[in-house]
Amino acid sequence: MVNSRNGRRDLSAKLRSLPSVDRVLSESALVDALDRWPRPHVVDAVRSELDVARSLLVNGREAPSAPAELAELAERMLRGRLQPSLRHVINATGVVIHTNLGRAPVSDAASLAMSEASTGYTNLEFDLEQGSRGSRANHLESLLQAVTGAESGIAVNNNAAALYLVISGHCAGREVIVSRGQALEIGGGFRIPDVLRQAGATLVEVGTTNRTRPADYAEAVTDNTAAILRVHSSNFRIVGFAEEPSLAQLRHVANDADTLLIDDVGSGCLLDTRDFGLTYEPRPQDSVDADADLVLFSGDKLLGGPQGGLIIGNQEWVDPLRTHPLMRALRLDKAAIAGLAATLQHYLAGEAIDAIPIWRMINMEASELQVRAQQWQAALAGGQVEASESPIGGGSLPAETRPTFVWSLEHPHPLDAARSLRDSETPIVARVERERLILDPRTVLPGEDHDVITALHEIVGGVS
Ligand SMILES: *Cc1c(COP(=O)(O)O)cnc(C)c1O
Repeated sequence: MVNSRNGRRDLSAKLRSLPSVDRVLSESALVDALDRWPRPHVVDAVRSELDVARSLLVNGREAPSAPAELAELAERMLRGRLQPSLRHVINATGVVIHTNLGRAPVSDAASLAMSEASTGYTNLEFDLEQGSRGSRANHLESLLQAVTGAESGIAVNNNAAALYLVISGHCAGREVIVSRGQALEIGGGFRIPDVLRQAGATLVEVGTTNRTRPADYAEAVTDNTAAILRVHSSNFRIVGFAEEPSLAQLRHVANDADTLLIDDVGSGCLLDTRDFGLTYEPRPQDSVDADADLVLFSGDKLLGGPQGGLIIGNQEWVDPLRTHPLMRALRLDKAAIAGLAATLQHYLAGEAIDAIPIWRMINMEASELQVRAQQWQAALAGGQVEASESPIGGGSLPAETRPTFVWSLEHPHPLDAARSLRDSETPIVARVERERLILDPRTVLPGEDHDVITALHEIVGGVS
């Protein structure tokens, strides 16, 4: 009792000792701030810091109470608000398509096209020949046709939107047959069954998690079946006793049942991954060849462009989607259209491997990466160069890796070292494994080496 009363008295004394807002505002640390920012912003920052200090004290913790200290904190908060929250970071994880780090970095040409489309006016929905209203769909359609061989193509915000639009447009109020092994979660809570339900379709699951045969689909067909949906398992792999029908087999079932065949291939991989020593990743053009009615894929995975969702296929099924009410809500932004167009042009020009950053990275040989890691080691006079693996990652090629060489450092507190790299002026994201700090040069862009070496200097210096 006595203790708790003393404690309360103690607390109220501490709370009373916090300075007033005006007292903090008079500190020199905030003189410049008051010149630069409207007064209410500065007052607001000081109030916030005082609130933080108060709640720390209430929770029995230490809190800053000197006016100068609180003024410093408020000033730092104000400066922080002017810093962009979304920043360039250096990806030293070796994961090529890193979903948390913004997936694919785009090519120089795509970046320029996106910037030009954003800073000036564009012919987004204007027909320059006729001088009258045009369609935003035109900018990607012929490229999608040329690159994939599909009759028709449109673009929406991402592949999730593509699936939602296709199901809403063609399957609402009806049944969609999906293999149990494909009723999956892509990540971030995006689950195929939920999307189908949201889009108004009824999911009919067939087969088992590891085995589904063509007959399972055929037996599930009813008068109310709208489509057979195939979903590429882009972020996991079932190994061993597993079987899924080929697209050709599904085409037969769909023909017999007179239903749509929809193929969500996921990563939008237009190149043959077997040429890079990886397993085959389904290509949109192969699904078009196998006569899928609609093929869906992302723009920012293995396509290597900005965020987008592409829907290609037969005109009969693509065209009604153009005028679907949801299209207006899901349509792609002009910068993304410009970036996707520039990216698709790299494929048409046969220069994808050299021009598109993710393909350049995937294509790098271990020997080149060894040289780069050795250069880091030499510049730092520290760390080791070891053989390792770079995952492709991010909803594509599950469990697939490319051989690499990494720079690594045995460190007493590797997690602290990784945190200090993230604190660099350009934050660097590294891996920590086996008590080691590990940086893979595969995903460090040319031109970022200097920043990496500068940041690592301090860490190497701190250990030795
Ligand atoms: C990644 C992925 C999606 C979602 O694509 P977003 O572009 O992220 O919306 C849908 N289906 C499959 C098979 C995927 O791999």
